[in-house]
Amino acid sequence: MQCPKCDAEMAKVVFSSIEVDRCTGCGGLWFDLMEAEQLRSVRGSETIDTGDAKEGRFWDAERRINCPVCANTPMIRMVDNRQPHIHYESCPGCFGIFFDAGEFRDYKKETLLESLREFVAGKRP
Ligand SMILES: [Zn+2]
Ligand SMILES: [Zn+2]
Repeated sequence: MQCPKCDAEMAKVVFSSIEVDRCTGCGGLWFDLMEAEQLRSVRGSETIDTGDAKEGRFWDAERRINCPVCANTPMIRMVDNRQPHIHYESCPGCFGIFFDAGEFRDYKKETLLESLREFVAGKRP
């Protein structure tokens, strides 16, 4: 599979028997439907996001990309509703998700820190 952002080859990475694709160029990560949600709850899964967050921020500006799986389907820019500073691309066809380098680490951090914060603030039972 080719990276939808920088066109480099994407390599398979397996964590906790979930297979994702990581770009050998920009370090972006591709998740199939629900894989990001599944991996988010697995301890240590942030280690798959080995890319440079600086590189990720550069590619984050690249917004018009096509889904690497569905070929000519443009992906939709999404904002994580719990962490609005995180933007990722989602495919309306296969529901795959692309995270730029560093974004999955960030996305993942939320479950630990922010849920604790919400708990302390009394937003959760
Ligand atoms: Zn790439
Ligand atoms: Zn797709």
